[in-house]
Amino acid sequence: MNHNQFPVVFDGHNDVLDRLGAPGGGGPGAFFERGEKGHLDLPRAREGGFGGGVFAVWVPSPEEDLKPEKRAPNGLPPALDAAYALRYAMSSIAMLFKIEARSDGKLRVVRTVDEIRRSLDEGVMPAVLHMEGADAIDADLDALHVLHRAGLRSLGLVWGRPNDFAEGVRPRFGGSPDTGPGLTEAGRNLVHACNELGIVLDVSHLNERGFWDVAELSKAPLVASHSNAYAVCPSPRNLMDSQLDAVAASDGIVGLNFGVHFLREDGVEDEDMPLEAMVRQIGYLVERVGIEGVGFGSDFDGITVSREIGDVSGLPKLMSALSDRGYDENALRKLARENWLRVLRETWGE
Ligand SMILES: [Zn+2]
Repeated sequence: MNHNQFPVVFDGHNDVLDRLGAPGGGGPGAFFERGEKGHLDLPRAREGGFGGGVFAVWVPSPEEDLKPEKRAPNGLPPALDAAYALRYAMSSIAMLFKIEARSDGKLRVVRTVDEIRRSLDEGVMPAVLHMEGADAIDADLDALHVLHRAGLRSLGLVWGRPNDFAEGVRPRFGGSPDTGPGLTEAGRNLVHACNELGIVLDVSHLNERGFWDVAELSKAPLVASHSNAYAVCPSPRNLMDSQLDAVAASDGIVGLNFGVHFLREDGVEDEDMPLEAMVRQIGYLVERVGIEGVGFGSDFDGITVSREIGDVSGLPKLMSALSDRGYDENALRKLARENWLRVLRETWGE
């Protein structure tokens, strides 16, 4: 149960499936125990008023691919082997369904906004299946159709490497997000297919040319699930003002990434970062995109968070800081949940 006085949060991005599936991560059962490691599990989520969110399936590059001699001239590791990517993704998707099966009704993999609302009302955690990178999907898009039937409702085109569809941004602090080519022909087909099926296309991690291709081709609101403003923190993983304007023009959403190196002006990965840096980023995003176009995309279990937040149980501290800064009940509700639900309904059509 949510015992704090703030609106329940629906968050746009977390990596708990990756943490639980990694060696020593504890597997699906660990999601139900209050842990000390990582950021997100059911007991801590309830303490923090984290109602539910988008759960990412992410496939790491094999150790071998990260060696300097394997990298492209722009610094990115090579595309994944297709069989490896599919096998790894299936195991991570299965993790989410195992959590649902073992949850005794406490977590539900959801496919519509009505299901999200019903779950939140009932105190059940709604989980949206998301893939962070389309590496496991073939260029003919057969896997996309099968995965959609299985519950996939959100897809990031890339992580920080190329695939059949597009290329990720090279995350070099202070550098431009224009680090490589735009969408391939298969990438353009992927955009159309996702529009048709009602799957969110997430542009976080996409390079700038890819971003503009999606902005031009997609009929859906633009979604950057876990990215911040480059003007405040010049990481190429964040969005330039022109990109934020395009998100606003599409009635899309930017989810605040809680990672300290995407928030701090110096980009240093130091957890001794005041909460104020998060409030400042939200303030900038709201000014640029509007109060209707900003949400949370915590990236819990995928990044380093401010010591002041600690983990998901610290969410009320952020809500309290925003409240102190003058965001009223209505504004907090939009940031915490309603903006995400609006964009999901527009994209999914239900
Ligand atoms: Zn990410």
